[in-house]
Amino acid sequence: MNKEFPCDKCGCCCKRLDLVDEMKDFDRGDGVCKYLTPNNECAIYDNRPDMCNTKKYYEKNYKNKMTWEEFVTNCRKGCKALQEMSK
Ligand code: SF4
Ligand code: SF4
Repeated sequence: MNKEFPCDKCGCCCKRLDLVDEMKDFDRGDGVCKYLTPNNECAIYDNRPDMCNTKKYYEKNYKNKMTWEEFVTNCRKGCKALQEMSK
């Protein structure tokens, strides 16, 4: 099974931490993560929180509830919604 998440690297999910209670300590004050670089990369990628790691997040919370493909489909809907909001 290919478990690579199809990320557009738009950075939108790292710019609306104000929508995610669990990530409030990472919010630099305007919803943007303090670890997001100007290139939309994560400065702490190898040590990022599980919430930012789709594979880990799936394994921990959704593995017994849905397939990886279903999880990705749901997440991608969230990506599209965030991308629309940022336009
Ligand atoms: S919103 Fe989705 S596509 Fe954009 S960076 Fe985040 S995970 Fe990737
Ligand atoms: S820790 Fe990294 S992946 Fe997570 S929101 Fe911040 S910049 Fe994005």
